[in-house]
Amino acid sequence: MSLKRSYRVTLIPGDGIGPSITESAVSVVEATGVPIEWETVQAGMAAIAAGGDPCPDELLESIRLNRIALKGPITTPIGEGFRSVNVALRKEFELFANVRPCVSYEGVKTCWPGVNIVTVRENTEGIYAGKEMYVDRERSAAVMLAVNTRPAMVRICRYAFEYATKHGHKKVTGVHKANILKMFSGVFLESFRQVSAEYPHIKAEERVIDAVCMQLVRQPQDFDVIVTTNLFGDILSDLAAGLVGGLGLAPGANYGHDLAMFEAVHGSAPDIAGKNLANPLSLVLASKMMLEHLGENTASGMIDQAVRAVLKEGKYLTPDLLPGSKYGTTDLTKALVEHIG
Ligand code: NAD
Repeated sequence: MSLKRSYRVTLIPGDGIGPSITESAVSVVEATGVPIEWETVQAGMAAIAAGGDPCPDELLESIRLNRIALKGPITTPIGEGFRSVNVALRKEFELFANVRPCVSYEGVKTCWPGVNIVTVRENTEGIYAGKEMYVDRERSAAVMLAVNTRPAMVRICRYAFEYATKHGHKKVTGVHKANILKMFSGVFLESFRQVSAEYPHIKAEERVIDAVCMQLVRQPQDFDVIVTTNLFGDILSDLAAGLVGGLGLAPGANYGHDLAMFEAVHGSAPDIAGKNLANPLSLVLASKMMLEHLGENTASGMIDQAVRAVLKEGKYLTPDLLPGSKYGTTDLTKALVEHIG
């Protein structure tokens, strides 16, 4: 008799809708039968309530040991208060590649069928470096230092071309603003050109960020893999999510050298927290990416099929997908688990 290996995964419930959608994702993963030991640790507001620190040592220690985490969204105060725990975790573990797929599913009402866009976002530099300050006590102006290093730009472009090769994508679009930010964005564009020359089997295309926004809403099927810098990637991946039915369908993975963290693209959605209204599919799809990362392809396929079947049936959908729906997070989760079972 062969005993299946058990995985140990850091589980971060997060804030707002986080605990309910992580609970959903855990139920769905467990339904596949993959043996996982979940180590639950808090971050963000929940961690502040527990011990005063939004990013406590036990969180960092757990991720460092387990090398893999499934994370609910974490609230970041706007304009004041503690810095983003999400950004801190990406920096701490050098999670340099943020991969965010957006797919049109049958059964989801959108203007755009046939979309399959993967945004590969540089995750550690750009204006997210967070080096900012007010110029005087009156806060009459603020300045910031944004950094794009050549090694990080080459690394993210290579990651995108490797990803495209491995997953059978035909084209990579490098998105920049080097017409205006000739040096800052130019370093990215030069790196894109250098790396694309090493992958002649993949079509490489250069586009300016503003033009891409317009083209994405007019002809999203023209895009395949997009690679870009930190802020542009953050914005474009939300735009892409909107094209296929909203943030409730947008998973994300953060990859480092030998460590990965999986999450939803969206935030903690405080407006719907505690109401059983949150769509859990973004985190369920992130857990599918986690299983692929672990090499559990049968289990990830089971989740993929369950998501497609439940969306196609169109009954147990949350109100973001089906306005006026009487079904919520728990009903959609139950439908997925039953489908897998
Ligand atoms: P948000 O993504 O939380 O919500 C935007 C809108 O989308 C809201 O109307 C919300 O109800 C809806 N929405 C989001 N997820 C949904 C889901 N699963 N099902 C149904 N509807 C959903 O953005 P926000 O309100 O600007 O941010 C709230 C907090 O989350 C902020 O503190 C922000 O900093 C943080 N945030 C965290 C992450 C992360 O943890 N990775 C990402 C983005 C924002």
